[in-house]
This record gives sequence, structure tokens and C-alpha cells, in this order.
Amino acid sequence: MTTLLEPGQIPQASGDAPRVLAPDAQDVFAHRARRFAQLADGHPLGDYLRFMGRLAQAQQKALDAMPAVPVPDDAARSQSRQHGMPLVPAQSWKRDPAWRTALRTILAEVGPAASETAAATLKAIGTLEDAALDGLAERVLRTELYGEQADKLTFVAAALQVYWTKLAAQLGSAALQPLDVPGVCPCCGALPAVSVIGASPEVPGLRYLHCSLCNSEWHMTRAQCTACDAGESAVAYQHIEGDKGLVQAETCDVCKSYLKLVRRDKDASADPVADDLATLALDILVDESGFSRSGPNLLLVPGGG
Ligand SMILES: [Zn+2]
Ligand SMILES: [Zn+2]
Repeated sequence: MTTLLEPGQIPQASGDAPRVLAPDAQDVFAHRARRFAQLADGHPLGDYLRFMGRLAQAQQKALDAMPAVPVPDDAARSQSRQHGMPLVPAQSWKRDPAWRTALRTILAEVGPAASETAAATLKAIGTLEDAALDGLAERVLRTELYGEQADKLTFVAAALQVYWTKLAAQLGSAALQPLDVPGVCPCCGALPAVSVIGASPEVPGLRYLHCSLCNSEWHMTRAQCTACDAGESAVAYQHIEGDKGLVQAETCDVCKSYLKLVRRDKDASADPVADDLATLALDILVDESGFSRSGPNLLLVPGGG
């Protein structure tokens, strides 16, 4: 474990950098699928990562097939802005049935690659009525990734990510404005999965938080706790020895939380979600030193398989 970043060297946001970046609907999940495949090679969790790559590929297919979905009109948008609310809040936005179509596409696509256990889960999801699926969706959207039927939640989360990514892409970067609360997504109000340096080639040195649900990214000053806003004197960086520091854990001594930081400026093929799941050893390490993770990876259901 080493500290990699010197706070004095950290560049701050320039005035004209985009505050919020909507996801690239053409490639967001396809990029993730390629990264999972790359990370799987020689990895102790190779089979798992390869399967997650198939899942990401299925998400891209479901997103490509999804027709335009209803988004808030101008009046609703300005009302949300007035109240400092996200435009399509995860917990209260009326979901279009398109999310369940996405789920069915995903089930069909990953089926052939599934292990025996996963195949049984996929089959069980396929028999559920709409109301039961919506019940599972509510749990994912409240980040309650545990309990009965937890094995189904990864797939439900994958479909919800597709739907919210569609919403975010349709709204577009210009419609998404930062909220007063810097730690939640301006589009959907969900917590970030990780933060990213070099979110896009136009913003190489800046840090953005990456939404765990809709794949939007929003700017936040570097070396600042994303959970409690504590400044650089409270934050430190840890990484696994020998991994080149591509993924670091930003820990906060004030609130004892951490969030991973993915250095896309060091390797443009890095992906917030794939690189997070490929570095679970770092979570264990940081966890053992007394820090709790402040944002979820919705595809990771502890004990859910
Ligand atoms: Zn979001
Ligand atoms: Zn903190």
C-alpha cells in the first residue's frame, strides 16, 4: 500500500469543463464488455469476470433495442431544478415497462453462458409476474442488495441500468445540471459506484463521480471525500501493491468511508464498473483497515452469486 497522489500536484476544474456528462448510449456497455474480457485473462476471478462481460454485452444489446422512452418535459425539468431534485429520481420516477423488456433480452442473451446455478436463477426470473419483477426493482433502487431472492438482483439491476442509461442519454449532458448535494447523481439521484479521473479525453485531469445506476458522470474536486465533503487533509489513497495504481481507494478519516478511484487517464480502456469488480481484493484490504464503502456496485450482490 502506498500513497500515490500528492495533494499539491492536483489540478482543479477549469471553468468551462462540462459539469455533467451523459453516457454514450452507443458504446457504454460494449466498452464495459470489452474491458471485462480483457480483465478476465489470468485473473483469479476470470470465469466470473467473463460472465459479467457477457452480461454487459447483453446490456448493450438491450439498450440498442430500446425505443425512445418518455422523459420529463420542460416544465417538469425546471420544477426539479427549482427544488434541487434529480430529473428522473431512481426511487420515485414512474418506470416505463421498457425496463422489463430489457430484462428479458438480458436473460435470453446471457442464458447460454450461464453456470448451472446462474441458469436456474435466470429461469426463475423468467417465470415471475410483472408485479414481482417490480418488487425486485424497488429493492435494487433502494440499494437493498440482500435477503431472499438476492441471486436475482444482479440481473434486475442490469436491466434497470439499461433503462436509466437510456433516460440519461435521451436527456443529454446539457439537460443535466449539478445538484447542491455533490455526492448524488444529478440525473437519477443514485450514489456513485466509483470516481474516475479522465472521464473523457476532453477532461484528462478532472475527477468525475460515476453513477451506479444511469452511467452519468458529474464533476467533483479531486482530493475531497465524496461522502462527507472533508478536504484533502482527511483523504488518503491506497492500492494493491503491483497493480500500477490504476484503481485506488480514496479513504476519508473523518467519516471512515471510501470510494474507489479509477484512473482512466492512465489507461483509457479502464471502465468504472468492470475495474471495480476486478479489484474486490482492494475492497477487502480497505475494509479490514476500518473503512466502509460509500457507494454501491449494483451488479455485486454479496452472496448472491
Ligand atoms: Zn444516475
Ligand atoms: Zn468523509
